[in-house]
Amino acid sequence: MKSLSDLTNRPTCVSPNRTMEKREAESGEAHLTFPARREKASAAFGHHTIDVREVAFDIDGVVADTMALFVTLARERFHLNFLTKDHLTCYDLHLCVPAARDVVDELICLTLDDEHTPLIPAMPDAVEVLTELARCGPLRFVTARIWPESMVAWLERNLPEVPRERIQVIATGDPDAKLEVLQRMNVRYFLEDRLETCHMLAKDGIQPLLFDQPWNRQWSPFPRIVAWRQFRDLIALPHGREP
Ligand SMILES: [Mg+2]
Repeated sequence: MKSLSDLTNRPTCVSPNRTMEKREAESGEAHLTFPARREKASAAFGHHTIDVREVAFDIDGVVADTMALFVTLARERFHLNFLTKDHLTCYDLHLCVPAARDVVDELICLTLDDEHTPLIPAMPDAVEVLTELARCGPLRFVTARIWPESMVAWLERNLPEVPRERIQVIATGDPDAKLEVLQRMNVRYFLEDRLETCHMLAKDGIQPLLFDQPWNRQWSPFPRIVAWRQFRDLIALPHGREP
């Protein structure tokens, strides 16, 4: 998957107060998978560090473990008890979830709707690291979801020690629209799980940091972040100050 919000072939979902339009399928996407490259990002990055003021974050699949909820719902609602996140080896879930197309469509809709979004768990250590980084300035999130409200509420609930004015969320409604938003924000580094988005950003000068997930384990030239603690080790804070 992708951050569920920008799934290719996403079905039309009708939830209590919103409708998500189906997107056109992306062409030419490779779905072959290879063993994850788990090199240290710091090694791939040389001795570079990241100024915390120059980084922004995707949400689904990076901060929020959105596909963990997808798997839970698949087991509870459709008795797909064998399913784990490791089965989700491609962004288009229809190609890697062994279930009928309408079942996958319904699961995607359930996972993204307002009722279930609050149930998404945070990625391990994301809360601790983001809380620490927020002491140095606002946390900037750019999501391809169409509406920001449910994720703003999710972030505020999961980051209770971060002042609300330090949580900034922009919903682009389209993964390709992230580039312009990030450029306007003077972002140099973006933590993202969707490989296609990483390639798109890199072409225009934004350094992607690929957050490791089963659906992005093709080879790529981008530093792979396998854990939030590893990401934290790359961060330099203003004036050499540790938060
Ligand atoms: Mg994502």
